[in-house]
Amino acid sequence: MSMVISFSLFSSCGKGSTASTDETASTDGASWIIDRFDDIKVLRYEVPGFEKLPLNQKILIYYLSQAAKCGRDILFDQNFKYNLTVRRALEQIYTSYEGKKDCEEFKAMEKYLKKVWFANGIHHHYSNDKFKPEFSQEWLSKQLDKYTVELPIEKQLLLDIIFNKDLYASRLNQTDGVDMVTESACNYYEGVTMAEVEKFYADMIDENDPRPISYGLNSKLTKDEQGNVVERTWKVGGMYSDAIQQIVFWLEQAAGVAEEPQKSIINTLVNYYRTGDLREFDRYNVLWVGDNESNVDFVNGFIEDYGDPLGRKASWESTVNFMDSTACRRTQIIAANAQWFEDNAPINPAFRKKEVKGVSAKVITVAMLGGDCYPATPIGINLPNADWIRKEYGSKSVTIDNITYAYDKAAQGNGFNEEFMLREEDRARIAEFGKLGDDLHTDLHECLGHGSGQLAPGVKGGELKSYTSTLEETRADLFGLYYLGDPKMVEIGLIPSLDVAKAQYADYIMNGMMTQFARIELGKNVEESHMRNRKLIAEWCYEHGKKDNVIEWVKQDGKSYIVVNDFDALRKLFGELLFEVQRIKSTGDYEAGRKLVEDYAVKIDYDLHKEVLERYNKLGIEPYSGFVNPDYELVKKGDEIVDVKLVPQNNYIEQMLHYSKEWSFLPSIN
Ligand code: ZN
Repeated sequence: MSMVISFSLFSSCGKGSTASTDETASTDGASWIIDRFDDIKVLRYEVPGFEKLPLNQKILIYYLSQAAKCGRDILFDQNFKYNLTVRRALEQIYTSYEGKKDCEEFKAMEKYLKKVWFANGIHHHYSNDKFKPEFSQEWLSKQLDKYTVELPIEKQLLLDIIFNKDLYASRLNQTDGVDMVTESACNYYEGVTMAEVEKFYADMIDENDPRPISYGLNSKLTKDEQGNVVERTWKVGGMYSDAIQQIVFWLEQAAGVAEEPQKSIINTLVNYYRTGDLREFDRYNVLWVGDNESNVDFVNGFIEDYGDPLGRKASWESTVNFMDSTACRRTQIIAANAQWFEDNAPINPAFRKKEVKGVSAKVITVAMLGGDCYPATPIGINLPNADWIRKEYGSKSVTIDNITYAYDKAAQGNGFNEEFMLREEDRARIAEFGKLGDDLHTDLHECLGHGSGQLAPGVKGGELKSYTSTLEETRADLFGLYYLGDPKMVEIGLIPSLDVAKAQYADYIMNGMMTQFARIELGKNVEESHMRNRKLIAEWCYEHGKKDNVIEWVKQDGKSYIVVNDFDALRKLFGELLFEVQRIKSTGDYEAGRKLVEDYAVKIDYDLHKEVLERYNKLGIEPYSGFVNPDYELVKKGDEIVDVKLVPQNNYIEQMLHYSKEWSFLPSIN
C-alpha cells in the first residue's frame, strides 16, 4: 500500500524541449542513461550531500547498505521458484562464453538476461508476464552442455520454463474468478489452493484483536508430508536462513555504530529476523515510526504485498537514505496542516480521522536500493503498512528526491509531451510546474492520502481482497489530486498558483486514459494496481463529467488527444469519487469496489491502444526505468575507519554480475 512508482516515467516533468526558461533544459538526458534494452532504460542516480555527512553517519550508511545488498536472492526466489536456477545457468554461460559475442543468439540471450536481472526473475516486473526469449531452445541446450552447467532440476524442465509460453505464464494472476493462488507463478504458495489459503488464515485471525497480527506476512504456505497446510517462516534457521543471517550480520554492525533510539530499533529488527515473530515486527515498526530524529534512516524487511495475489505475503526490500533538509520545508508544511486536510476531506465525516497522529513527511536522498526497490524503484514510500499502527502511532512518509531528479534529467528533450499533449497552454504549464506538481502529488499521496480516513466499527480491512491495492492507491491519489487544486495550497505557500494543479490534472488524465498504455502489450488488460488506479480515476471522471464536457477526446490530423476543458469541475469529480472510494474502504464494500475496478480500470480500447503504441514507439523512449547503485568503500588507517568513499557506478551488467557473485547466499532451490 505504500509505494508510489513514478507517475509518468516517460513524460518529462517540466523539462521538455518546449519553450522553457529552465537553463538546464538543453542538457542531454542521455548522460543519465547508462543502458537500454527492450522496454527498459537503466539510469544512474547521484547522492548529493553524502560527502558532507559526519563520519559516524557515513559508516552507518555503509553497514546498512551492505545489509541492503544481502536479500537480492530472496526476492528472486519469492518471485518464482526457479528464478535462481535460470539466472545462474544463464550467468554461467554468459561469463564463460567463448564464441562470437556479436552472434544473434548470444545477443538475444544477453538481452533476456538483462531483463531477468531487471525484473528479479523471468516475469516482467510490471506486467507480470513471462518473458519471451528471442534465442532458440536448441542454441541454449547446446550451451548448457558445452559449458557443463550444473542444474538442480532436469534440463528439460529448465528449457520448458524458459521456452514453453503456457508454463508459469504469469507471476501474478488476479483475474476475477480464477484460483489466483494456483494460477500465479509467484513462490508464496505451493501445493495449496486459494480456498485452503483463505481458510488457513481465517482460522488464525482473532476478530476481536484491536492490534491484529499481519499473519502470513513472512512465510511461504505449503503442505507437509502428511498433507497439513503449514507455514515455512523466513527467519534465521527457517526458509532463506543463509541470506537472512548475512542481513543480520550487517545490521548488527550498524547497531554497533548507531545512536539511540536507532540502536534499539535495529536490534529489535534483528530479533525479529532471528525469531520470525510478527509481534516483534510490530514492535519494531512502532519504534521505527516514532523515530523522527535520526538523520540516516532505512527500510529493511518483508514489507510490501503487491506480489501476492491475495495481498498477504511480503516481498523483501531495502532502502538506505538520509534527510534532504532543504527540500523538507515542503513536506513540513503539509505535515503541519495534516489535521486541516483531514477535517476538510470530501468524505463522510464518520470516516474521517478525529485526530491525525504522527504525520511525518520527509524528503530524502537515497544512498542504496535493494530487493524489491532495485533496480526499479519507488519515488515515495509510506510505512508501516499495518492499519492499527498507522492509526495509533501514525506513519512515516518520504519522497525520494535524488531519484525523481534523475528521472527528470533522463527525460529531457525526449519529445513526449509534444507528441501526446494537444494544447500549447498545457505543455507550457507542464514545462513550468510539472516537476513541482508531481512532487507535491507524491507528497500528498504518501504522507496524507494513505494515512487518511478510518474504518467503520467492525470492519477489519481485508474485505476488499484482490481489489485492496488498486482501491487504496486510488484513494491516496484522489486525496492528492483533490487537494492539489485547493486554494489552501496557495495560502500556505506550497504552490505559487493553481496552475500547478492544472498542469498535474492535464497530465494525469492523459496518462490514465492514454499514454500509460504504452507500457502494456497490445490486446492485454491493465493489471498493475497503480496503473489500474490511474485509469479508474480518469475514466470515471470522464464518464461522470460527460454531460458537461469536462474531459474531451479530440481528433486532430488523425491522432487522438485527451483534453481537460473544465479544471474546477474535474476537481469536484475527484472529490465525489474520493467520497465513494473512502466509503468502500471504510465499510468494506467488496461488491462496489469490484465493480469500480472492473468497469473502469481493466479493459483498454483496442484501437486506441494500437495508436498509442505506434506513436510512442516512434519516439524511441523506453517506458520503464531503473537504477544502478553507487558503491561505498571504507577508508582505513590501520584498524580505524577514517572515511567512507562514494564510488559512482555506471555499468549495469558489471553491477548485476558483481551482485550475483558477491552478494548471493541462497541455494538455487529453497
Ligand atoms: Zn501509494
